[in-house]
Amino acid sequence: MRLFLTVISLLICCCAALAQQPQKYHKVLELMGSRFEISAFDADAQKAWDGINAAITEISRIERLISSWDPNSQTSLINRNAGIKPIKVDNELFQLIQRAVQISRITDGAFDISYASMDRIWKFDGSMKEMPDAEIVKEARSKIGFRNIQLNPAKLEVYLKVKGMKIGFGAIGKGYAAQKAKEKMSALGIKSGVVNAAGDLIAWGKDIDGESFKVGIADPRKKNHVLSWLKVNNTSVVTSGDYERYVLFDNVRYAHIIDPRTGYPTTGIKSVTIVSANPELADALSTSVFVLGIEKGLYLINQLQGVECLVITDNDEIVTSKHLEINNKS
Ligand code: ADP
Ligand code: MG
Repeated sequence: MRLFLTVISLLICCCAALAQQPQKYHKVLELMGSRFEISAFDADAQKAWDGINAAITEISRIERLISSWDPNSQTSLINRNAGIKPIKVDNELFQLIQRAVQISRITDGAFDISYASMDRIWKFDGSMKEMPDAEIVKEARSKIGFRNIQLNPAKLEVYLKVKGMKIGFGAIGKGYAAQKAKEKMSALGIKSGVVNAAGDLIAWGKDIDGESFKVGIADPRKKNHVLSWLKVNNTSVVTSGDYERYVLFDNVRYAHIIDPRTGYPTTGIKSVTIVSANPELADALSTSVFVLGIEKGLYLINQLQGVECLVITDNDEIVTSKHLEINNKS
């Protein structure tokens, strides 16, 4: 009988210990027109779900603020009033635009949220059958220019100086949303988690085995083969790729990223992965390297502390920044 009781109490102890083990809770859903996967690793199921739900609420809130498709967003109001009048916006949107303009400065205009006047011309959903007329591209290109985004910090006003100008956050919004979602989850006590916004991810804490999270970078030459594993802790890994959204004209593959200097989509690069603590910056820089090309792009990344990069060219060549450690073992 005593032995039986000991076994029972041992079993109860084991169960209690198991219940303390962190479990993975996760949700996949479409937000900001992209597939988001939000994971929390915690022993407390209720806390994990509260964290995941807070992240979803936060991402939806950001979407309503920055979407240029939603006619009711502040961003759409700015766009409708281009060349007409300045618009007062929330401090959060003002700051985001200000940071985007700073990235335009450090990338010499390769990154430019006012690329968006091109949305009317270039479609990457398979509907384009021929190259647009050069004159039309030239006309729309004349509306691009971050220097024509006038910011008044005292009044929190944004004014697009040229009629027909338009801003869009396609290259920075997911990174920003991932960071804010992580902050909400951390504030609720989620010590380990991953927010993956269609390949733009931030991971913090430890996996359920107690090890750092590992992110695999796909090998373009071998399907389903991981080229490199990156250990991540409080790190974001963001990839811009031309696999999903592109157009083909005369066998040339044009990515869904516009070179603001020419008004044409970029060519020559298949994907750019940026590793950095800050997912918003990583998101913007992955787009920038596409536009800058390998030489100038890597030169820029090598100047930035704590930012690394891996580029895969159209010929499946792999080029990395100075300090990126490639590890082929899982
Ligand atoms: P992905 O959608 O693969 O994550 P990006 O983060 O590079 O890729 O974002 C690409 C999107 O950024 C485009 O679909 C468009 O909305 C926007 N964009 C295109 N060209 C530029 C540019 N030069 N500067 C800023 N944003 C851009
Ligand atoms: Mg980007």
